[in-house]
Amino acid sequence: ASLVIGLTGGIGSGKTTVANIFAELGIELVDADIVAREVVSTGTKGLAQIVARFGNDILNPDASLNRAKLRELIFSKDVDREWLNALLHPMIRTEMLNQLDRTQSPYSILIAPLLFENGLDRLVNRTLLVDISPKQQRNRTIIRDSVSAEQVQSIIDSQASREDKLSKADDVIDNHGEISALRSKIIALHNNYLKLSNNA
Ligand code: ATP
Repeated sequence: ASLVIGLTGGIGSGKTTVANIFAELGIELVDADIVAREVVSTGTKGLAQIVARFGNDILNPDASLNRAKLRELIFSKDVDREWLNALLHPMIRTEMLNQLDRTQSPYSILIAPLLFENGLDRLVNRTLLVDISPKQQRNRTIIRDSVSAEQVQSIIDSQASREDKLSKADDVIDNHGEISALRSKIIALHNNYLKLSNNA
């Protein structure tokens, strides 16, 4: 597709819920989190480079990447974290662009929780924020994941603030209401994106 929309929002804001409705409308999605896992899946060059640096201990018994162990390793070691970011970010970026390039729908959507934080907004033509208050984020995430309010709050605090994202986004979907209210908002955006894609 020649028009790419970057879909973002904090933890528990409703990105997946919104993306699923766009998918029902026939829009193809690329998910940054999935791409980030694909580039280090079994048999990839990415994984081979991680093993070359950290040794076979970084693998699970089934030869897949032990993510918990990697996270622990890089948590306290700045040089290792920077090395890993320098390895993965270009690979993730290239793979996202390849997947977006292959999409056939009139426009496509890149879903990225850290769209602004990681500068991925520069890869898309337009940005769409799913907006909810931190209170709703906590409530919905606690219901979904059975985590504590403190755990959710620390993730919220590690992400760009609501105000920051609101000031950067081209379009905003308010997700404070019922899920049923989302559909008509999304159809309005969809029609606008179809128009934009015709002119792209
Ligand atoms: P994450 O970044 O944490 O993966 P997300 O932004 O993809 O989250 P969703 O998983 O879509 O968010 O939504 C979070 C939870 O809130 C889910 O359990 C979802 O079903 C629920 N939810 C989403 N929108 C609404 C709504 N309008 N009303 C009530 N619950 C909602």
